[in-house]
Amino acid sequence: MSEHPDRLWRNPEPRSGYDVVIVGGGGHGLATAYYLAANHGIRNVAVLEKGWLAGGNMARNTTIIRSNYLWDESAAIYEHALKLWEGLSAELDYDILFSQRGVLNLAHTLQDVREGTRRVNANRLNGVDAEWLDPDEVQKFCPVVNTSPDVRYPVLGATLQPRAGIAKHDHVAWAFARKADELGVDLIQGCEVTGFLKQGNKVVGVETNLGPIRAGRVGMAAAGHSSVLASLADVRLPVQSHPLQALVSELLEPVHPCVVMSNHVHVYVSQAHKGELVMGAGIDPYNSYAQRGSVHVIEQQMAAALELFPIFARAHVLRTWGGIVDVTPDASPIIGPTPVDELFVNCGWGTGGFKATPASGWTYAHTLATGKAHPLNEPFALERFTTGALIDEHGAAAVAH
Ligand SMILES: Cc1cc2nc3c(=O)[nH]c(=O)nc-3n(C[C@H](O)[C@H](O)[C@H](O)COP(=O)(O)OP(=O)(O)OC[C@H]3O[C@@H](n4cnc5c(N)ncnc54)[C@H](O)[C@@H]3O)c2cc1C
Repeated sequence: MSEHPDRLWRNPEPRSGYDVVIVGGGGHGLATAYYLAANHGIRNVAVLEKGWLAGGNMARNTTIIRSNYLWDESAAIYEHALKLWEGLSAELDYDILFSQRGVLNLAHTLQDVREGTRRVNANRLNGVDAEWLDPDEVQKFCPVVNTSPDVRYPVLGATLQPRAGIAKHDHVAWAFARKADELGVDLIQGCEVTGFLKQGNKVVGVETNLGPIRAGRVGMAAAGHSSVLASLADVRLPVQSHPLQALVSELLEPVHPCVVMSNHVHVYVSQAHKGELVMGAGIDPYNSYAQRGSVHVIEQQMAAALELFPIFARAHVLRTWGGIVDVTPDASPIIGPTPVDELFVNCGWGTGGFKATPASGWTYAHTLATGKAHPLNEPFALERFTTGALIDEHGAAAVAH
């Protein structure tokens, strides 16, 4: 994503110093830069990206957007994101193809049913739209799902979030990038942060392959590489990096009306605007920084998909790829200060950070502008791993992006 057809990219030389430097030009870094300028009037900002804008997870994800998480803290931040998504095309003056076609989370066991109905109740208490569907209602909502009782893991029901859906990820990145650029933010590609400039316990800038850059404040937004980056400032983060894969089929006529996810058989499927079936699964279980994973994960994902959607048996795989996601022990993100003064972190979104992009940027911008947590990101501080106030979203986030 180096040059967009409708706008030749300005890739400025870094200035000697900025009020705020953001490391990582993915969705979260770009959204943060936009909201710093738009909400807080802080425009002396640089986003430093070692590759090209949105060349990491931002343009590799499967674009599922929903807010039906279990715990109050998660529902609050993801629902804030969903509300922002609903107005984002207008705000950024760019069509991000946001499609609220509804997301189903299938239940295949009694335990799935209990978890799903509990989550529907929790969501409603938090003002998040949520419904429980029985198998006939699932069939009606999504006729291509196999709801026969004769399969290995029959569908016993599903949660439905009607306002959930998908958007076009590269459009989202461009939309934030264009607006941030218009507001005066420097978006600098090919600029890798290789170290931090420190005075005592305070960060005062970054070392890069383009030379040192001074900064009043530094915000890390380097998904997949957060622990490596933080270690350059002697900060140890409780995150592990894993490959996460996805694939698309050749282009098909519209056949699949919504998004279907199944934690139990470990696959999820939607159909992109152009017509590809978009399928993903869980993370590859080993740690890696290679942006690719193992073939057996794809094989299992396809087997699971065919059990749920026998109609796709003759579709061909067009492309597979992988990204690197960083995973925390409670499957919730970390946004806030680090033990080093003026160094902040935004990471650990694991398999589900695309949907959070606007709220992540909104709250992180607040934190970088004021030095304090926004009420929505306060519970997601690094210190929860010492206080024990974890926000365990494994149930809502396991394979569910
Ligand atoms: C296959 C796949 C499917 C997914 N599906 C979904 C989904 O359906 N829904 C959902 O909500 N989420 C999904 N996700 C997760 C989501 O993509 C991520 O959580 C989110 O994109 C992470 O934030 P980001 O966009 O800022 O990350 P990235 O786009 O990865 O941005 C981080 C950037 O930091 C840069 N960087 C790293 N180190 C340095 C350095 N030292 N100096 C300068 N730059 C550096 C990288 O090059 C990268 O561009 C998926 C992820 C993958 C891989």
